[in-house]
Amino acid sequence: MNPPEERAKILIVDDNKQNIEILMALFREEYKIAAAINAKRAMKIARSDTQPDIILSDIIMPEVDGYQFCAELKEDPKTKHIPIIFVTAVSEIMDENRGFALGAVDYITKPFHPPMVKARVKLHLNLKRKQELLEKFAFIDALTEIPNRRRFDETLYKEWNRALRSKTSLSMIMLDIDHFKDFNDTYGHGQGDDCLKRVAKAMEWSLRRASDFVARYGGEEFAVILPSTTEPEACTTADLIRDTIKALEIQHASSPVTSQVTLSMGIATIVPEGHQSPDDLITEADRQLYMAKRSGRNTIMHTHTIHS
Ligand code: GH3
Ligand code: MG
Ligand code: MG
Repeated sequence: MNPPEERAKILIVDDNKQNIEILMALFREEYKIAAAINAKRAMKIARSDTQPDIILSDIIMPEVDGYQFCAELKEDPKTKHIPIIFVTAVSEIMDENRGFALGAVDYITKPFHPPMVKARVKLHLNLKRKQELLEKFAFIDALTEIPNRRRFDETLYKEWNRALRSKTSLSMIMLDIDHFKDFNDTYGHGQGDDCLKRVAKAMEWSLRRASDFVARYGGEEFAVILPSTTEPEACTTADLIRDTIKALEIQHASSPVTSQVTLSMGIATIVPEGHQSPDDLITEADRQLYMAKRSGRNTIMHTHTIHS
C-alpha cells in the first residue's frame, strides 16, 4: 500500500451522513478521504490547497444539488480538472445525459457493489494521472528536460502582463552556444546532445529567484526570463551563468574562441507599456545576442532599459 502522503485524496459529498460512512468504509484503507454534507462546503475543500484528486457526489441535495455543484466545479479554472463521479440510487429518476454534459466522468449507483465502485474510482484516478503527465511533458523539452518553447511563450505572456500591471522591470537573456556546429563535427551528435543537457542543467542551477525561468528556445539557443529584475541584476545573473558553464570545463578543441564550450548572451530589460508587446523584448535581446556574436563570441551584451 502507498504511504499516507502519496495516497490519492477522495472527496465524498452527500447530505446523508450514512451514505458518507458507507463510502468512507470502502475507501479508508487505500485513500485519504474528506467529506462534505453540502455542495458549499465541498466547493471550499475543492478550492483549498489540499485539493481532492477525485470527487464522489450525490445528486439530490437540498440547496445546491449535484448538477449545480458539478457546473460550478467545471467553471472554475482552479477546480475544473478534478473528475467528478455522481452517486445515485437506482430508484432515483436521473438524467445521465445532463451529468455527462456538465462534465461528470461517471455514475455509480446505490446500493453499492464494492469491487465495481473501487474499480471505477481507480480507473478515473489513473486517467487523471496520465492526463497530468501528458500535460507536463507537453511543456518539457525531451532532450534537456527543461521547459520548452511552448512553456517559454506562456511564461513570457504571463510575466509580461504582470510587469505591465505592477510597472516593474522584466528582463530577458538570450543565450547561444558558440560554434556548436564545430562541436558536433568534432565530437559527434551524441556528445553534442550531452553538452546541451549539461549546459541546460547548469543554467537552471545559476538561477536564484523562484520566479526566474529558463527554457530551451530551439537548437542550441536558450532563453531566460527574469521577472522584477533590473538590467544590472540581469547582468549579474548572466555573469553567474557564464561562470557556471565555465566551471563545467566541457572541451571544445575546434572552437576558435577558447578550448572550452562558451556562450554568447544578449540581455534586454523593459518596463512594459500598453503599446509594446513581448516580441519587443525578444527582438531586443536577440539584437544584443547578435552583437555579442559579432564582437567575437563568449560575450555578454546589453542595452539600457528599452524606451519607445
Ligand atoms: P555560432 O557561434 O554562430 O552560434 O555558431 P554555431 O555553429 O553554434 O551556430 P549554427 O546555427 O551554425 O549551428 C547550430 C548547430 O547546433 C547546428 C546544429 O546541428 C546544432 N544543434 C541544434 N540542435 C541540436 C541538438 O539537439 N543536438 C545536437 N547535437 N546538435 C544540435
Ligand atoms: Mg550557436
Ligand atoms: Mg543558433
